[in-house]
Amino acid sequence: MPQKAPSDVLVENFHVKGSPKRNWPKKIVWWDETLRDGEQTPGVYYTHEEKVELARLISETGVDVMNVGIPAISPNELKAVKAIANSGLDAAVLGAARTVRSDIDAVIASDAPEIATFIAASDVHLKHKLNITRETCIEIAVDSVQYAKDHGLKVTFVTEDTVRADMGFVTELYQAAIEAGAKRVLFCDTVGVMTPSTIGWWLDEMVARVDRKVEYGVHLHNDFGFAAANTLTALEHGIPCVNTTVNGIGERAGNASFEEVVMALEDLYQRPSGIDKSKLYALSRRVEECTGVPVAFNKAVVGYNAFTHESGIHTDGVIKKAATYEPMKVEELGRRRRFVFGKHTGTRAVETRLTEAGLRATKEQLVAITNDIKVQTENHTKEYVRDFIAAYRTWDRDNKGVSPEVFWAIAKKHGIAVPSKIPMTV
Ligand code: MN
Repeated sequence: MPQKAPSDVLVENFHVKGSPKRNWPKKIVWWDETLRDGEQTPGVYYTHEEKVELARLISETGVDVMNVGIPAISPNELKAVKAIANSGLDAAVLGAARTVRSDIDAVIASDAPEIATFIAASDVHLKHKLNITRETCIEIAVDSVQYAKDHGLKVTFVTEDTVRADMGFVTELYQAAIEAGAKRVLFCDTVGVMTPSTIGWWLDEMVARVDRKVEYGVHLHNDFGFAAANTLTALEHGIPCVNTTVNGIGERAGNASFEEVVMALEDLYQRPSGIDKSKLYALSRRVEECTGVPVAFNKAVVGYNAFTHESGIHTDGVIKKAATYEPMKVEELGRRRRFVFGKHTGTRAVETRLTEAGLRATKEQLVAITNDIKVQTENHTKEYVRDFIAAYRTWDRDNKGVSPEVFWAIAKKHGIAVPSKIPMTV
């Protein structure tokens, strides 16, 4: 690939000079999990309309595949997967299934052209969760892949907890699944225990061991905060298919954040992602609304504070040249820079706000206004902070699934002798 001119952001072009060798895949396959793993975020569910709408918005960013749910979960889930599968989106629609006939039958019934069928791979899962031997695991995997393939589905074979499994067994299991007809395989760091260096080593080793010409992919969790970094590492190691979610939502600490991986590729490595960056921010906001999972203020790329400045030194720098304190181009994301006026404000930000409104002030006036803003901020009672945090915690307690009160009321309704004084804590 021809070397592009250094971007405004990478002033020193550090990514080219002396950077390590990277083995990029020829084409990235973006696999979105917002509607499956993302819906498994504690407390989250989408209405039918939301699921169909989000599928369209996600497809419009340019992703290649979307795992839109597990049709076997409920008649409603099947209906949603079916509606999405029949809505003519550009992204391929995939339904997920355990390696269980009834789950696979539900995907067949959903009209989704693709299936991801999954079973656990690590001994801790096989022994304690499934209570099956490694041999049985391989038999079930082969049978399920064949069955799905025989029904005309493109099959992705997935194992949970792949990275904590015995590598010899993983090799055997994946080779068997590929021989049974899997066209794509996913390796999972289900509990997010890998780091960029360990996942890089593990993937190189595993791809060499499996040694089959299929599309490899990764599904990496964020328990230690490395999901996006590990996913980027997977791409650097030639893995084409990456699972991501909008806002990084998903089980527990979530999955690799779509927007973080896209922006790192585009801006830090200057690799075309094939994703329409201008849609990322609006999509993030819509997912926030539909999930009820607020985007953290300090979340990279899409967080409310990601392009917000207060301190005088920073606002002054950004006004003179955005690249001083903004390593991404805010307008490319379809969002705007914001200045907060508070304790750390400087005169430059005040002057800019006045100028934008077509107003002028003397130097003395600017200093006086700035000082007044500082004083007013410091004199704020912290009441609004307390109210906000209290509301947030009440939401966490009562709006994720059913509240403790509702839980015990349901139990009582079904004949459980619930004592009158039962703690309402979770
Ligand atoms: Mn997952």
